[in-house]
Amino acid sequence: MHEALLYEPLDHARVRCGVCARRCVVAPGGCGICGTRMNRDGRLFTLIYDRVSAVHLDPIEKKPLYHFHPGTAVLSLGSFGCSFKCPGCQNGELSRRAPVEDDPALRVLTPAAAVDAALHVEAAGLCWTYNDPAIWLEHTLEGARLAKAHGLYTAYVTNGTATRAHLDLIGPYLDAYRVDIKAFSPAAYRTVAGFADVAALLDGTAYAKARWGMHVECVTNVTPTINDADAELAGIAGWIVDALGPDTPWHVTRFHPYEGFAHLPATPLATLERAYALGRAAGLRYVYVGNVADDPRQETHCPACDAVGIRRSGYRAVSDLRDGACPQCGGVIAGVWG
Ligand code: SF4
Repeated sequence: MHEALLYEPLDHARVRCGVCARRCVVAPGGCGICGTRMNRDGRLFTLIYDRVSAVHLDPIEKKPLYHFHPGTAVLSLGSFGCSFKCPGCQNGELSRRAPVEDDPALRVLTPAAAVDAALHVEAAGLCWTYNDPAIWLEHTLEGARLAKAHGLYTAYVTNGTATRAHLDLIGPYLDAYRVDIKAFSPAAYRTVAGFADVAALLDGTAYAKARWGMHVECVTNVTPTINDADAELAGIAGWIVDALGPDTPWHVTRFHPYEGFAHLPATPLATLERAYALGRAAGLRYVYVGNVADDPRQETHCPACDAVGIRRSGYRAVSDLRDGACPQCGGVIAGVWG
């Protein structure tokens, strides 16, 4: 086992984990809510330091990241466990699995081996995704340092629970923060994720951008009856404009019924159109409709002249931008274009 970062000792050999917003107090012999951090005699250890569940070479558009090195391939890594308890999680077999110490059934991939693999397959970057990277800091920090040293970009696909202390460690080495904003009210967040401290999530996301200059894109999976009210969607959009700026891409994606949310319908297209309109009305310049095949709202338009700068079909992107500028009027399209 690998000793954890960012924990503090408490009385009676308990410890408090400071990696994510749960800030679990863990008694000897116990694990935190994510199931991946174990207290051994007053010291906290991670069970997943070099344990991976999935390794894939993906288009960066799949994350989705639309304004960040479009058309490149990223090596995507996942592990096990999660700080959230989402009833409709699409990766439940990974996120709900509680690893055991030195589990021989789990594949080993050290951070250095992950970077070697990314270079071997000529990926442009390394991304931590599938389960939540906020609970995998010991791996992501080492991997991100090495990735940057080898000229790769780095990205989190995250539920946004990383604490400021976590972000201060990874910040110098993390380029992109693709974060879920699952709802705006604590009640809706509790329903969709089993976590209601919305302020902590929003604070971490704003801090990732303001303190560390990460490229941030937000995703809201619009789920019927849970977060599809105007107040929820307009609240998210307004917060993005105010805290992250109007150039921040917001992806409103179609929910598909699954597991604990199998009783809910898929998101009607009309609801996604309403979410899109609310985002635009709030002042967001780049709102995208996701999980809908070939929807025209997956294209990137110039906010000045409305010309199409990037066309997308599925996960394929074709960019006509010229050094990040509109091909028609030369106006700046915000992003990290590489
Ligand atoms: S990473 Fe988060 S959920 Fe896991 S033990 Fe630490 S505070 Fe708890």
